[in-house]
Amino acid sequence: MSTQEQKLAYLTAAGRFDICSPGECLQLLPVTVETRRSSQAPEILPVPLDNLRSSQEALDDLEDPDGRTVVAPYISYNRRTGGCGRMLKMLLNGTCSYDCAYCPVRTRREPVSFAPEEFADTFLRLWRDGLVEGLFLSSGIPRDVDCVMHDIVETGEILRRRGYDGYLHLKILPGATRADIHDAARVADRISINLETTSPDRLGGIAGVKDYRQDILKRQSWVAEEKPGGHTTQFVIGAADETDAEILSCLADQYRRVRPSRVYFSAFHALPGTPLAPHPDTPAWRARRWYQADYLIRDYGVAADELRAALDENEFFGDRDPKTVLAAGSAPVNVNLAPRRDLLRVPGIGPKGADRILNLRRVRPFSGPADLARAGIRGKAAGRHLIFNDRGTVQTKLSS
Ligand code: SF4
Repeated sequence: MSTQEQKLAYLTAAGRFDICSPGECLQLLPVTVETRRSSQAPEILPVPLDNLRSSQEALDDLEDPDGRTVVAPYISYNRRTGGCGRMLKMLLNGTCSYDCAYCPVRTRREPVSFAPEEFADTFLRLWRDGLVEGLFLSSGIPRDVDCVMHDIVETGEILRRRGYDGYLHLKILPGATRADIHDAARVADRISINLETTSPDRLGGIAGVKDYRQDILKRQSWVAEEKPGGHTTQFVIGAADETDAEILSCLADQYRRVRPSRVYFSAFHALPGTPLAPHPDTPAWRARRWYQADYLIRDYGVAADELRAALDENEFFGDRDPKTVLAAGSAPVNVNLAPRRDLLRVPGIGPKGADRILNLRRVRPFSGPADLARAGIRGKAAGRHLIFNDRGTVQTKLSS
């Protein structure tokens, strides 16, 4: 195995913990290549997402008994969004001088890194062989942040100069210069800077080096100006013990101020050797609740303030879809009379379903839950929140 392949294995393994990287729903795949029977197509084998393994274990696995070489054991494969399929999530540097208490990269001592040209060579080989379709590039910060950010940007520029036209996501490091953000926005499809948590105080408890206002919020406003509609951010839910009410306020401010195209929510997972190792894990369902709440705000027109009604007395979402909780506390909606925004608040009805209802009810009113099948909606979930009067005598609370 070449040095480049070993570095790939190490640095992709380092980058798989959703630290300094977006936590979208990813299926991680090891990519294996037939080195002895090169006429055969590369074989891709799935690995379960929860099968967390240390980078050393990953390195131990690099040669499998059938004589195949694992070139990049943690290429991530996004099945859900239909976006970039096989995406290589990489760190340029596998060590970091910052002190984020949840991060395994800070505990690493082996100074493994790629120089921009060297990584571009390696990535282009994988891309031309059809093993990867996209790149997410981040880095630990072992030295001056400007040097590392400059390397990230330079790598993107080299890739574009050498003909790479696939998906490219570049991470903006906390404290990056405006000039580097500008250049990153120019070469990348998407750029991102992570909030991690909700406020300076919360961040101070888990990452003392980063200044929330200066290093993150100020840079994020530059990111939004340089790449409107093409930037994202991420929360590590639970690492700083923030409540869901705090996240809701922060999220509302994000959509008001910088309008990220996506917000990712990663459930905190305590890793051995980090200062937060004794901290309880955040249950996966809490991150799922946040994706649901975020969809309600982005795609369903629900105001962040409305979602406060779905919080419990301790200011957390329980383990129920916030849409279901809101609907349970509201009057039923008249399927034959309600405007689109009210139909969208009914569990089981999404934007497409609401549009189909609006079209179909012009021709013939809906007569009961079983009739919802005409609009492709399962009557059981939606039916209990709907009424089917078509004479306009029922006023719903939500449409008032
Ligand atoms: S900046 Fe923080 S989260 Fe990012 S690699 Fe360094 S220690 Fe980890």
